[in-house]
Amino acid sequence: MPNMSLKKNEMPSQDPNVRNKNFLEVALGYTEEQALDEAARCLNCKNHPCVSGCPVQVKIPEFIKKITEKDYEGAYQVIHETSSLPAVCGRVCPQENQCEGKCVRGAKGESVAIGRLERFVADWHREHVADHPQAPAPNGHKVAIIGAGPAGMSCAYFLAEKGYRPTVFDKSPRPGGMLMNAIPNFRLEKDVVEAEIDILREMGVEFRCGVDVGRDVTIPELRAQGYKGFYVAVGLQDGGRLRVPGDDAEGVMSGVDFTKKVNLAPETKLTGKVVVIGGGNIASDVARTAVRCGAESVTLYCLEGYDEMPMGEEDRTECERDGISIHAGWGQTAIDTENGHARAIRFRKCLSVKNAEGRFAPAF
Ligand code: SF4
Repeated sequence: MPNMSLKKNEMPSQDPNVRNKNFLEVALGYTEEQALDEAARCLNCKNHPCVSGCPVQVKIPEFIKKITEKDYEGAYQVIHETSSLPAVCGRVCPQENQCEGKCVRGAKGESVAIGRLERFVADWHREHVADHPQAPAPNGHKVAIIGAGPAGMSCAYFLAEKGYRPTVFDKSPRPGGMLMNAIPNFRLEKDVVEAEIDILREMGVEFRCGVDVGRDVTIPELRAQGYKGFYVAVGLQDGGRLRVPGDDAEGVMSGVDFTKKVNLAPETKLTGKVVVIGGGNIASDVARTAVRCGAESVTLYCLEGYDEMPMGEEDRTECERDGISIHAGWGQTAIDTENGHARAIRFRKCLSVKNAEGRFAPAF
């Protein structure tokens, strides 16, 4: 009999008054008992709409069924057929807008906590299984992957599994891309990413970090070294600008630049009040990082209404638990400056974010 509870099992997490002062992972993961109870909420739907919401088409009902049978390694193998980074995806994928957004249980109550179950299975595998996938004998074809972030790592995994020996180039000093450099540790601990990188190394993937392809070595030079295939996975490195007067003032930073800075120097301290502009996951990461860096107060403004914020309910709740004050439905018009420093931000009420065609076109 399925568990017909309308609510997901809560995931244990650090106490709000403790976690807002450290960078350790906030969510602690399901216990086995919680995972079994949550897995029993899945109806194993024949047409499995949840799978259509997953960008890599993980066989969700199949892996959840394996959990109900206590075959956790079997569940991991089902996920791993199509996803090379389950421990990462279980932590950082926006499931509310993907698989969980399509789950039929969401029609009356809360969807099955697919992301939390994925994380449980991946963590179980990491803690209990020492053997990693063995790559087949090399087929002699060299492939260069440019970018050691999640896309480059996934490509390397699936190529190594087929006998290629990819080399992953990255201009950063360490592999992992945004997973290591931009996503805060309290959302994704770096040990989790390092464990995935170690598996790739065991499979014969070579990482060459500190190499800027195009500057230190060119594609024709790599070709001359025997590389026959190239996969460019450099991602989006730069943060966006606000595009209002004063957006280049001292004290204004893009979200990605800020989280990168703190990831590389977690001892970074902030003084004074911080305003975060944006309603998505990066805004949530930035605001929660600012709290942990000691900001006097953190206030978040976004164009969308409170219930339409792209970060979703879970992240929004985490922001509020961290003491962040949210002002939804406001758009910035200018940043006032004094001697080149940001002094104040002007906002006006946003009436709608999208136009009749569903395109981003804020109206004030
Ligand atoms: Fe299970 Fe929800 Fe997927 Fe149905 S839609 S199979 S209930 S996770």
